[in-house]
Order: sequence, then structure tokens, then C-alpha cells
Amino acid sequence: MSTEPGTTAFAERVKKVKPSPTLRITAEAARLKSEGVDIVSLAAGEPDFNTPDHVQEAIVKALRDGKTRYTPTSGVPQLTDAIIQKLKNDNGLTYGRNQINVGAGAKNVLYAIAQALFDARDEVVICAPFWVSYPDQAFLAGARPVIIRTREADGFVVHPEVLRKSVGRKTKAIILNSPGNPTGAGYTRDDLKAVAEIAEECGCWIISDEIYEKIVYNGFEHVSIASLSPETCARTVVVNGLSKSYAMTGLRLGYAAGPEELIRNVNMIQSQDVSNAPSIVQWGGVAALTGDQSCLKTMVAAFQGRKDYVVGRLNAMEGVWCFEPRGAFYVFPRVARYFGMQDADGTELKDSTALAGFLLKTARVSLVPGAAFGGDEYLRISFATSMDQLKEGLDRIEDALGRLKPGPHYANYQVHLEQKRF
Ligand SMILES: *Cc1c(COP(=O)(O)O)cnc(C)c1O
Repeated sequence: MSTEPGTTAFAERVKKVKPSPTLRITAEAARLKSEGVDIVSLAAGEPDFNTPDHVQEAIVKALRDGKTRYTPTSGVPQLTDAIIQKLKNDNGLTYGRNQINVGAGAKNVLYAIAQALFDARDEVVICAPFWVSYPDQAFLAGARPVIIRTREADGFVVHPEVLRKSVGRKTKAIILNSPGNPTGAGYTRDDLKAVAEIAEECGCWIISDEIYEKIVYNGFEHVSIASLSPETCARTVVVNGLSKSYAMTGLRLGYAAGPEELIRNVNMIQSQDVSNAPSIVQWGGVAALTGDQSCLKTMVAAFQGRKDYVVGRLNAMEGVWCFEPRGAFYVFPRVARYFGMQDADGTELKDSTALAGFLLKTARVSLVPGAAFGGDEYLRISFATSMDQLKEGLDRIEDALGRLKPGPHYANYQVHLEQKRF
């Protein structure tokens, strides 16, 4: 006699994790689009540019040359060397071949790092608003994410006193993301020094996600925290990838650099998991890192123009405040003044999720509620789309917000929000 496995058949860990909300919203907007609904998508977490020609060609050539076999888990040596050279040239960091890990995207690399470092009872310090996968990857390793808030007034950079109070004996790592998704926060050298000092005091790791290092604005200079001193370098794992800089999101290529023993363990985890990043894409990675960088300039110049436009438009809207991002391709406008307002049907919009739902339904604009990133007073708008789409999307948002009216509990909502602010 056979018995059906019930829900108890699933592991405890899946109960703590949720599917990536950004991927879910992108999928929902795609579904509406396929049904013929005219959606303006401002939810995407990827550049709208094509993978540069020379990178495409290198991948096709690798395919034709039969480079379709397994590679070493740590990547083909030519890629490892290209990464070492990149880290030296761009970041002033010196690593040997045994200090580089290559994976199927930065997300995969971060996952393997979490598996190599975190145990049950470990605490992982994450600054909110955060990239969606950090807490879930910590959960999946059995660890406890400790979420600390950053303030818009501090440019969404963590305040050293807040960080110092949040670390302790159980802290295994601090995750840093500069330039940051979703806020566009950019840590200066001094900001990084403060974080490094606290990590030093507490004796924890620093996981530095630098995937947006090339996408920066108004002269913001990206500094890798690992470059501050040999002591800081020895407790830091630098994570980077080609998805954002070289418009290669679907191709899956990311890497990490850090102390040899840590990288050996990360490689070991991956040897039991993906084995290696896609072989032909690794050759595309060599071309991207060693080839002409003008594709980057073109893309960043376009992003800069769009950012200026979007920030200007949002700040001109009643009840919306928008921080000027230092990097990445998102804005994170504060929209909490609309909480407690009602739509035409009398439905009260109680939080960012309700507001994003309202904008999808009424304005036919898809964007991501701030709650997904641990910042419920905000929405995330991606400007990795054409100027025409941005203009249309912002027109629709402005029009839809303008139609909202304060509901019966509006004042309570606003008082409550004021009390929660710090
Ligand atoms: C997109 C993104 C990643 C993951 O990038 P992949 O290399 O495509 O896996 C990691 N961190 C942040 C902050 C991101 O926005």
C-alpha cells in the first residue's frame, strides 16, 4: 500500500523562505502583458541593453570550438586570471588563483558563501533596505538574519553606532552592498572604514557585494572595503558578477575573491552543487573583463540621463520624496504619505504592497513594493528601461496617485508612521 507524502514531507527550511518577490512581480507583469494588457514595467532588475557584441562573439566561438565540457569548479584558468587582473586594476586588490571562486551568477556565489560560513545560531547582519536574497540565503543556511535600519537622511548608509549595537558574539558576518540595490546607497571610504573597524572589533566576516561598482553617478567613486587594509582584506569576501555591468543576467556568471581557505570551502560547496558556471559563458566573461570597456560607458551615460529625469519627476510629485541614487539603476521613492488613502472603490491602501497593487491595476505600471526589501514606506522603480517607457510610466503613476483621497483613518496612519520613524 502506498501513502501520499503530505505537507510534512517537506523540509523545515522551506517554510522560512519565500520566492524572490522581484522575480514574482516581473512574472505577474509579463502574464498581464501576454494577455494584451498594456503594462509599463518598472520592476526589472536587469539592464535593458544587449550583451556587448564582442562578448556574444566570444561565447559563440567557445561553443563552436567545443568548449562545452565541464570546467574546473573554480573556473577556467583564463577567467581566473582575468578576474585577478580586474581586481588589481579596478580595486587595487591582489589575489592569487586559489583565492578566486567562479559561480553561476553572484547569487549562486553568495549562496555558496552562506553555506560555507553560516551555522545554526549564527547571526548575519543585513542593512535594510536590503537586496531580497540576503535574508533568505541566511535562513537556508540555518542562520538568523539581524536586520538593521538605515536612514534616508544618511543616504541609506548604515550609521556606525547602530551597526556597533547590532553586532556581538554571535555575529558571523556583516553583508555590505555598495552601490546598493534597492536604494542606490553608496559607501564612501570613510563610511567603509567605520564598518571595517566594527567588523574588526567583533571579529566577524564582511561579505561585500559589489555587483553595481561600475554603475555609478555624479562622480561617485566606488571603493572596495577589502582595499582598506590587509587586516580588512583578510576578513572580507568580495562578490561581483557580470550580470549588471555587461548586461549578462541570463547567462549566469559571478565570482568571489577572498582568503584561500574560505574560497576552498566555497569551491567545495559548489563542487557538490552547480559544479561549474556555464563553460561557454566563462569565455564570454574573459572577453568582457579583458576587452573594450566602452560598452559600459555608453550604458552608464544612458542610465545617468534616465536617473536625472526620474528623480526630478518623482520629487515634483505631491507627497513623494526620492533619494538621489549614487549607483545601480533603481530609485527608491518614499510614498508613505499615500498610506491610508482610498482608491475609487473605497479600498484603503495600507502599505507599499497595497500601493504597488493599486498602481499595477489602475495605472498598469509594475514596480516592486518597498516591503520586499524591508523598507515598507517606499517603492522600487527600475530605470533600466527606455525613456519613453519611463515617461509614460511616471505620467501614469502621477495621474493615479492624484486620484487618491484620504480615507477615514488617514490621520492615524500618518501619526503611526511618524512614530515608527527613527
Ligand atoms: C542582481 C543582483 C545580484 C545577483 O546577480 P547575478 O550575478 O545575476 O546572480 C546580487 N546582488 C545584488 C545586489 C543584485 O542586485
